[in-house]
Amino acid sequence: MRRGMCPGTFDPVTSGHLDIIERAAGLLDELVVAVALSPDKGGGPLFSIDERCELIRAATGHLPNVSVRPFDTLLVDFASELDATVIIKGLRAVTDFEREFQMAQLNYRLVPDVETMFIMAIPEYMYLSSSAVKEIARHGGSVAGLVPENVSEALAERLARSR
Ligand code: ADP
Repeated sequence: MRRGMCPGTFDPVTSGHLDIIERAAGLLDELVVAVALSPDKGGGPLFSIDERCELIRAATGHLPNVSVRPFDTLLVDFASELDATVIIKGLRAVTDFEREFQMAQLNYRLVPDVETMFIMAIPEYMYLSSSAVKEIARHGGSVAGLVPENVSEALAERLARSR
């Protein structure tokens, strides 16, 4: 049984993340989407950890071997706790490479039995990030197609409340 983990902040989950999750789920018996608390990333997340997990659960309901779990520990420790043998990450433009290469090396040094593997972003989502989505939504632009429908609704509701 091969279990993998797909970690990130997912504030909020985008179509780019979902593409990686779907492709990773097809390669593994089980995939855990590991949602990092990340209290300090980008001035603090827009959605709480529970909200981020719920948005991913709703958007991955069609994938029976995918589950969603929050974490606030060292990534490799959480992988060991889950009995996951592979960490799957999405790679966008070359700008992701340096940071991801460093993290993969450090994680390998900490726990060599957990392998990090990368799935290339498709061209359509190459420049898509959660921060770009929030920026567009904040200025009233359309995020249709960039995020699943439930996330688009959650963004509209959250931003209307904060105006
Ligand atoms: P972000 O960089 O958008 O804040 P996360 O920290 O939640 O995203 O990223 C989690 C993982 O998803 C990382 O491996 C990241 O490279 C990957 N990822 C993010 N956006 C995309 C995308 N558009 N296509 C493919 N992979 C992506």
